[in-house]
Amino acid sequence: MIESITKNIFAFYSPNLGSNVYILCGKEIVLIDTSINTNEKQLKEGLSELHISPEDVSILLFTHAHADHIGCANLFRNSQKFMHEKDAEAIELGDLHYTLANITGQEIIFNIDKHLSGNENINIEPFSLKIIHTPGHTKGSVCYYEQKQKLLFSGDTLFAGNCGRTDLPGGDEKKLLNSISMLKNIDFKLLLPGHGVILKSDQKANIDFVLKTLKAKYL
Ligand SMILES: [Zn+2]
Ligand SMILES: [Zn+2]
Repeated sequence: MIESITKNIFAFYSPNLGSNVYILCGKEIVLIDTSINTNEKQLKEGLSELHISPEDVSILLFTHAHADHIGCANLFRNSQKFMHEKDAEAIELGDLHYTLANITGQEIIFNIDKHLSGNENINIEPFSLKIIHTPGHTKGSVCYYEQKQKLLFSGDTLFAGNCGRTDLPGGDEKKLLNSISMLKNIDFKLLLPGHGVILKSDQKANIDFVLKTLKAKYL
């Protein structure tokens, strides 16, 4: 369930509807997304394979506010939580409709410590993460670009061969088209999406394919 991606980055693959979780082991332990609440036990077990306890995690970087990505947030009591400002409000107000928590039957309310607006850089040695605001799947979806290793953590904006849906609250297919087009300008070697497999080559071809499919569906 845990796979080593690079020497200091690991992936927890979700066995179900929950999101993948990426574990960045630097000076501090950072998680990108936390999967769905029903994966709490498996996530804990996965982290323990890496000798990490939930208390060791100091930062949670969320790609967006959906329940399948934020579900285990409350497990990490010592963590600072980062999310784009346009999605953060839904969490803080406990908006069960926007977060889809009504579907997963969980109540997820917590404070977001840092509201992102896009274009910020987060430096956590040895990682340098650039925030890219990519609305479309939700209003406050972001990708995290690790500039040194050239990795793109894309949440539900872009998958291998597909992209996130736009028919949920805050979804917008035109914005998603723009956001995915913008990702073509980023030089990344690995795509680490919120669901499914990691894409290790042909990034531009994947983006072209996804854009073509999206245009055929909506334009
Ligand atoms: Zn998702
Ligand atoms: Zn989502």
